[in-house]
Amino acid sequence: VRAKVMQVEQNPDVGYEDIGGLDEQLREVRETVEMPMENPELFDSVGIKPPSGVLLYGPPGTGKTMMAKAVAAQTDATFIKMAGSELVHKFIGEGAKLVRDLFQVARDHEPAVVFIDEIDAIASKRTDSKTSGDAEVQRTMMQLLSEMDGFDERGDIRIIAATNRFDMLDRAILRPGRFDRLIEVPKPDEVGREQIFEIHTRGMNLADDVDLGTLARETDELSGADVKAICTEAGMYAIRDDREEITMEDFRRAEKKLEQSDTDAGEVSK
Ligand code: ATP
Repeated sequence: VRAKVMQVEQNPDVGYEDIGGLDEQLREVRETVEMPMENPELFDSVGIKPPSGVLLYGPPGTGKTMMAKAVAAQTDATFIKMAGSELVHKFIGEGAKLVRDLFQVARDHEPAVVFIDEIDAIASKRTDSKTSGDAEVQRTMMQLLSEMDGFDERGDIRIIAATNRFDMLDRAILRPGRFDRLIEVPKPDEVGREQIFEIHTRGMNLADDVDLGTLARETDELSGADVKAICTEAGMYAIRDDREEITMEDFRRAEKKLEQSDTDAGEVSK
């Protein structure tokens, strides 16, 4: 059961230089997660405790998982990921036990960065219905809170949670000593998108006419994950045409294709 829901990576292959447009957010993550791991004495001498948990919130595909991985890589910590939805939906009745297992695995692999994606699945505002599913979710969340409350902040385990649904969160998890540092991770602005295009085209064989600044201007509202998808798709067009160089036209076609698939997806979900 454990192996299926928990992803454990010893040396995640992501660095800060692979993340575009989130300078301020990265600074905060480094200050709250990296510094206490690398320089605990700084906190001791000033006499403050570092935050126990950090919550990243914002739309999907904006780099939240990447940031958690990068900070684990930077601190030579084991990266342990679990999705809140899997905790409660995949193995009904096992949520609380999985949370206990999660923290046990973290203790066995110190230093460790524990990343809980989709935290809203276990920490939503209480609903009125008293279904058994709800009770199970509550138990899972209580277990998480008690693991965090019983935590020695000096330990070498840091917890990062992420959500796309900040509005849904039960405020209990945001109390001091829990996820008491909130970092908003928005979609990139134009400058951010250009950086992300640069990152994902680093290894690509670009024709002279490719202008990443123009592409960044044309992709308003897209996430980092969308920008990455455009780069990959542009490469696919070149391969299909038997070319080694990727042209501006390939990127344009990739943009259109992404727009189209978004529209289609929108229609399906209606
Ligand atoms: P979700 O909420 O869907 O889990 P997320 O915010 O955790 O999303 P990631 O998994 O970090 O998103 O991003 C998905 C992929 O999109 C990354 O592996 C990366 O290739 C690309 N990406 C997203 N944001 C950025 C960024 N800011 N810089 C560079 N690449 C990015």
